[in-house]
Amino acid sequence: MKKKKAGEELALRIDGKAVAAKIKAQVAGEAAILAEKGIAPGLAVVIVGSDPASRIYVNNKKKACQEVGIYSEEYALPEGTTQEELLALVDRLNHEPKISGILVQSPLPKGLNESALVEAIDPKKDVDAFHPYNVGKLMQGRQIFLPCTPAGVIELLKSANVEIAGKSCVVIGRSDIVGKPMAMLLMQNNGTVTICHSRTQNLAEICRGADILVSAVGKAGFVTGDMIKPGAAVIDVGMNRDESGKLCGDVVFEEAEKVAGCITPVPGGVGPMTIAMLMQNTVTAAKLQNGIS
Ligand code: NAP
Repeated sequence: MKKKKAGEELALRIDGKAVAAKIKAQVAGEAAILAEKGIAPGLAVVIVGSDPASRIYVNNKKKACQEVGIYSEEYALPEGTTQEELLALVDRLNHEPKISGILVQSPLPKGLNESALVEAIDPKKDVDAFHPYNVGKLMQGRQIFLPCTPAGVIELLKSANVEIAGKSCVVIGRSDIVGKPMAMLLMQNNGTVTICHSRTQNLAEICRGADILVSAVGKAGFVTGDMIKPGAAVIDVGMNRDESGKLCGDVVFEEAEKVAGCITPVPGGVGPMTIAMLMQNTVTAAKLQNGIS
């Protein structure tokens, strides 16, 4: 990543759809090889209530399963479903041979205990890699499943030939599903990682020191052009709606692309990668459950 000067060309736009398509093609190939051995990877998706965004995500996941040749089952349960009913379903899916991976779509309606449900999933079927067992494995660098969104980010960086080793990486956000595992994966790839959050002081200054800046805040317009080091790789995990209801990320794209070396758009950046990595994990789960490494 070299220093940019005024008047230089815009940042390279990393095409998440294209990279995801490549990964899904590889996964489809692996699924076809498994099929020859009589093994069919299967994903069960559990959705509770009627959150419109969750519905879109679940539909996209089912569509991706069809594309790559993964069998899928959807359990769309009404708002009033109890914790006991959900636990019973997860237990049944844990023992169902047709199902290699189980995913409980977040957010769940109020009153349901999401952590308890995730902990009830057999870690060998935990394709989101949210179970504490899999989180612990990730901490030790011995993971079975890569956390989908952060793993997708690493693939995007690799696709743009961004070197991570020895680079200064800043992750904004410390959630269990994005920020923390993102930091772990960057560190596993030998980046020097700083995690920022809502209590961080001098956030803009810290960001300006980043060779790789990953934003996972969930606030439109959060990362402005003056927070970016010239030539940096900027990965926008945020998925927000602007005033007109249009999907957008955390980064002010028009400003950032004038400064960054490469950048992911929203939509069409990290989003498609999350689903591609989920497909990869489901095939990995099927292999694991059938003694194939
Ligand atoms: P989250 O659980 O709400 O976490 C947001 C993080 O941002 C928190 O750690 C929070 O800090 C930090 N934050 C909030 N305001 C801040 C501020 N003013 N300054 C610095 N840090 C601030 O969200 P999430 O689940 O990680 O998701 C983040 C975004 O990524 C959302 O837009 C979500 O929709 C999107 N997402 C996208 C994908 C995808 O596939 N593209 C997947 C997952 C999530 P504190 O911890 O101090 O509160």
